[in-house]
Amino acid sequence: MIFSHPDFSAHESISWHQDPATGLRGLIAIHSTRLGPACGGCRLRAYASEEEALRDVLRLSRGMTLKCAAAGLPLGGGKMVVVLDPGAKTPTLLRAIGRMVEAHGGRYITGEDMGMTRGDLDHIREETRWVDPPVDPARPEASLVTARGVLAGMQAAVARRHGASSLRDSRVAIQGLGKVGWALAGLLHAEGADLAVTDLDPARVAAARKAFHATPAHPDSIYSAAVDIFAPCAGGGILNPDSIPRLRAAIVAGSANNQLEDESRDSAALAARGILLAPDFILNAGGVIQLAAEWFGWEQEEADSRVAGIASRLEDLWAGAREASGHTPQEEAIALAEGRLG
Ligand code: NAD
Repeated sequence: MIFSHPDFSAHESISWHQDPATGLRGLIAIHSTRLGPACGGCRLRAYASEEEALRDVLRLSRGMTLKCAAAGLPLGGGKMVVVLDPGAKTPTLLRAIGRMVEAHGGRYITGEDMGMTRGDLDHIREETRWVDPPVDPARPEASLVTARGVLAGMQAAVARRHGASSLRDSRVAIQGLGKVGWALAGLLHAEGADLAVTDLDPARVAAARKAFHATPAHPDSIYSAAVDIFAPCAGGGILNPDSIPRLRAAIVAGSANNQLEDESRDSAALAARGILLAPDFILNAGGVIQLAAEWFGWEQEEADSRVAGIASRLEDLWAGAREASGHTPQEEAIALAEGRLG
């Protein structure tokens, strides 16, 4: 039963879709429209089971609510997952996704996520207008803006942890060299950081080795890389009782959504090890801030200053967690978002 599902969190609605023509299956979860229409990208993945897809969509949509609220955006939280290997996507299937989105009549706005590119949205847009706007060459890519927000958060983290004024010579392990991970690698390389990188796709790792002099790591050994910062930029649930004891980094700061497999257990385990966590939905808000700017027609300067605000938001959370002893940064972040949700 859905209402007793461990990841059900008072979601407003969850809908199951099957496209009659193609058989494509997708799930749309609208967690909250309290602050505005529910926004959140569409993830394509060859989910092994319905349970896995349901869990992902429930957790990701709640994360979008928290992210938009904490960032002070007039948007709610939702998410879509589609059971499809990204390699198998076609314009026909993308249009089918568009029809599933359209069925919500604007309560849910979709966009790109893992397995999707901004170009894919052009096909979705043929069926619905409730999708992130077309690429505006005068604006930066949302994933680059996400990476800029992560970089700003990392700078705040090394200042807090080590009193360092820059990331020069910091060692950073990046898990996942997709849209955000690759952009982040470029920004960190330009800052003079040393990179260890991994991806399931060896070609991306080889390209990062060439472009950024990055040290390749096996996907499983990235957790124990001898680095200062661990940056998860791939899937969720990767901070858990198996991985946390292996971390050698003093800071965890990356773009991936829902990094903690279990929010309270794993944030406490990180704190107990003295590892500073930059809560994901605070740190990775750059992309949604950028998309909000494009939706609502804000000047780019407005978006940039909101993204720069990610660093000070983190500083406040870390300070709050320290003052309220026993609180983790994750708990402080949730309290900030819930306060804004009223
Ligand atoms: P993407 O699909 O472009 O890239 C993901 C990369 O991770 C791929 O290269 C994939 O091969 C790799 N990968 C997957 N599992 C891996 C594993 N176990 N080990 C190593 N590599 C692995 O996705 P993206 O847009 O770069 O997003 C990355 C993460 O950041 C996701 O969790 C996403 O939800 C989150 N995020 C993205 C944005 C954005 O602006 N794109 C914004 C906020 C949050």
